Amino acid sequence: MLESILALFLMQAPAANNYDNAVNKLNEIAASNPAQAQVITIGTNDQGTPIKALKVGNGETASLVVATHHGNEYGSTAVALGFAASIAANPIQGQTVYIVPVLNVTGYNRNSRYENNLETSIDANRDYPSPCKTDKAYRLKSTNALATFIDEKNIQISATLHTYWPAVVYPWGISTTDLTTPYEDTYKKLVADATKESNYQTGNNTQVLYPADGTFEDYTYWKHGIWSLLFELGFSHSPDNTAIKNMVDVNTPGLRRFLENAPKKRVALHDFSGRCDSRAPKRVFLE
Ligand SMILES: [Zn+2]
Repeated sequence: MLESILALFLMQAPAANNYDNAVNKLNEIAASNPAQAQVITIGTNDQGTPIKALKVGNGETASLVVATHHGNEYGSTAVALGFAASIAANPIQGQTVYIVPVLNVTGYNRNSRYENNLETSIDANRDYPSPCKTDKAYRLKSTNALATFIDEKNIQISATLHTYWPAVVYPWGISTTDLTTPYEDTYKKLVADATKESNYQTGNNTQVLYPADGTFEDYTYWKHGIWSLLFELGFSHSPDNTAIKNMVDVNTPGLRRFLENAPKKRVALHDFSGRCDSRAPKRVFLE
């Protein structure tokens, strides 16, 4: 009897990951570093919930770290919050860094990959315009809010955080075999810098992971020429506290180095001139 009551309680217990807790953590970081960190709102989601970010520093170069396009990837939020605490205590000279720990609020609260709008569930990291995307973009207010934000703030460098596959990768990640950008050599240096502590795998997004159309990481590069990396963190979608601490520890210095070392100017040649190929091989699991 006791066991069944306990089982019922566990089924009904609130998810361990709660957006309010992440926002509280941002508020704590800002309160501890009032001269250099403020909590801001980048917009609202379909439910009207404000999407919060931490703004650190006041430098001319604007950069962004965004986590949890996929709500079940709570390890990425943990890394974003750990990174936010670290950088708020020691900002990057000449740079304003924006950190969004949870983009997909509804998914985060129910530990689901997908985000709800008022009608259905959507994969937020397939919801951006993209050269090989054929279906509609911006079905979610959150993705639209983030796209507007990077435009308004003139973001020049961007890291998007996911779990899991231990890799840091660069564009293109779309459905094509024409994967090389004119900035491949610089990107190779940047991913090597970003993985010194983690020893994660590095390379082209599609080659290391799989092609996906409508992702944030390709959108930012394609639309604006932003220096854009995808961090696939860790070894599990359900890391325990020890694994989370390790993810934060090995990725915080690499994230910082990426923001410090990326060129402080968007790239000029960011159009996609290759051919889309929907037959590009797809991997069976999703990050
Ligand atoms: Zn993901």
